[in-house]
Amino acid sequence: MGYAYYTVTRADGTEIEAGYDVTATCEQVGCTEEIARGLDNLCGSEPGAPEDGCGGYFCSRHLGYRDWESEEPQPENCKSCFEKRD
Ligand SMILES: [Zn+2]
Ligand SMILES: [Zn+2]
Repeated sequence: MGYAYYTVTRADGTEIEAGYDVTATCEQVGCTEEIARGLDNLCGSEPGAPEDGCGGYFCSRHLGYRDWESEEPQPENCKSCFEKRD
C-alpha cells in the first residue's frame, strides 16, 4: 500500500479516500483550510478507525493536541479527542 492514495474505512463504516495526494478540507467545523489527507494531518496513529483518535484530518491549527509532558509516544489529536482522554 502506498502513502499517496488509498481508501480506508472509518469507525462509522464510511469509506474515504486518503493519502498525501488527496486534498480535502480540515474537518474542524467551520474551518475551510485545505489540507492533504496525509498521516501528518491525521488524528490518531493510523488511518481509518484508530483507537487513539477519530481518524479525521485536520489543518495544523486544529491538530497537534497532545500531552507534551508525557514520556510515552503519542499520536497527535484534534481538540475534541484530546479533551476526551483521561
Ligand atoms: Zn480526533
Ligand atoms: Zn482547521
